[in-house]
Amino acid sequence: MQKKNYFTVSIHDVDKNDIDAIKYFVEDLKPLGITKFNLVTIPNEEKNNPIDKAPELIKWLHEMERNGSQIVVHGLYHKDYYGKYNTIWQKIVGKYIFHGYSEFISLPYDLAYKYMKESIKIFKKCNLPTDTFLPPAWGISKDAIKAWKDLGGKRVIEFFAINDFENNKEFFSPTLGIESQKLWLHYAWRIYDWFMFYFDKYSHHLAKFTLHPGDQKNLNGYKNMKKLMAKAIKKRELVTIDEFIKIKKNKISKCCRF
Ligand SMILES: [Zn+2]
Repeated sequence: MQKKNYFTVSIHDVDKNDIDAIKYFVEDLKPLGITKFNLVTIPNEEKNNPIDKAPELIKWLHEMERNGSQIVVHGLYHKDYYGKYNTIWQKIVGKYIFHGYSEFISLPYDLAYKYMKESIKIFKKCNLPTDTFLPPAWGISKDAIKAWKDLGGKRVIEFFAINDFENNKEFFSPTLGIESQKLWLHYAWRIYDWFMFYFDKYSHHLAKFTLHPGDQKNLNGYKNMKKLMAKAIKKRELVTIDEFIKIKKNKISKCCRF
């Protein structure tokens, strides 16, 4: 039977300091059949970890790309040096939930454009693709989304959606991640399981699973994520973000609804 629904696995915060944890996930998930990932890579973590000075990491990323993974731009510094919030909601998310890592949550257009241009410059130096942007700690201002589009980017990945400029569409795509919060750890995967899989018969959404290097320490959470991924691969086709967009694009050109 052809699988109609899709899922994708992203590994966030790829940089040279965390490469061991990242490689651990890649190896550990192989037996489940999870062999391709979105590798969400930080161009220059906290201004002192530029990927263009990490040849081993770049070599590994190219190898992963050749084997079907996708490289995604993850902010510039992965820290909110701007530090201004325009709304209470931004403050709650940026300051209290993500502790100052939502680098793009409130950035005005000019600054977002400048930062993103720098990210693209670093990625291009390393010969890595610059189509897809995923903001650190899921915070991104409308201005920053526009800046990515104006810089020639094709899409922005958000917590609940994929903002795809090529098809001019926002695809609903909720994310499951362990993060480090206990409540999330215990209940989120059950809720997500119910939510995504119960409604499978009515929808063709992309389930997004995310892993962070720190999740390696959170073994119970990781065990639950693995269980769900093992379940997902039986019912859903494993894709990268790019592959999902291509599938959707074909469907859009063939028909009007999906
Ligand atoms: Zn991150």
